[in-house]
Amino acid sequence: MITVNTVNEIVSQVRHWKREGQTIGLVPTMGYLHEGHASLIQRARRENDRVIVSIFVNPIQFGPTEDLASYPRDFARDSQVCRELGTDLIFYPQPDEMYDADFCTYVDMDVLTTQLCGKSRPTHFRGVLTVVSKLFHIACPDRAYFGEKDAQQLAVIRRMVRDLNFDLEVVGCPIVREADGLAKSSRNTYLNETERKAALVLSRSIEAGKKLLAAGEKDAARIVAAMRAVIEAEPLARIDYVELVDGDSLQPVSTVAGTVLAAVAVYIGTTRLIDNTGFVETEGTK
Ligand code: AMP
Repeated sequence: MITVNTVNEIVSQVRHWKREGQTIGLVPTMGYLHEGHASLIQRARRENDRVIVSIFVNPIQFGPTEDLASYPRDFARDSQVCRELGTDLIFYPQPDEMYDADFCTYVDMDVLTTQLCGKSRPTHFRGVLTVVSKLFHIACPDRAYFGEKDAQQLAVIRRMVRDLNFDLEVVGCPIVREADGLAKSSRNTYLNETERKAALVLSRSIEAGKKLLAAGEKDAARIVAAMRAVIEAEPLARIDYVELVDGDSLQPVSTVAGTVLAAVAVYIGTTRLIDNTGFVETEGTK
């Protein structure tokens, strides 16, 4: 496994692999790796000749009052995890390697980014799409791996790839959870013991929604109300959103039809956590 910090180094390694006809799987991350990230890396390992993991806390996807400075970082541990999982190359750039002082070009999107997390994080997806575009150009992956945990991120990246004709496959991977149901997240480390217990309202609310969907409930307002009730019973929780949206357009639906996404964002104390479940009307929950 090699670690490179500069765009020039990764580009020359990628060119070498491409000349040899090797396929490349890319797993973009912000580091502080957990089993969720590991599941993406393992899948990439199975499906490609070469696996690249990028570790980059992307400043432009954080809002001015968000947790850029305090975001957890542990490169030594991440490096060991990547090595154990059979990663070929870690791309670990510093912000000034990715963004020149006069950087001024961004990738932006309408419609999908104005919903869900986009409402409280208006510049977030512009930052995500810009950095992911750069990583796609730099690493030239055949496949890129993203978690369903960040369902809106996955949907906007799929749409960008389609709209801008990126020549790669986006692979979505299932949410990895703690034993008690909490979706794994680097941000879970912000929670104290009481908050950690309170955070279970996210997965419990998702379970409540899932159950109603599986039982054939079609009325979105009733499903949302049941999901909200679970969260509102927890004094440490403050709802950012609880929504049922169309799985492709991410627009709110009033009636369940086709593919829908039930998604929540909740503050537990000062920590903002998200969770979701997809549902295909004819086939049951994913
Ligand atoms: P992050 O480091 O938080 O930017 O996440 C990097 C990638 O890992 C993203 O595609 C996330 O959706 C994915 N990911 C994070 N947590 C999980 C999880 N619990 N299960 C599956 N994928 C995840």
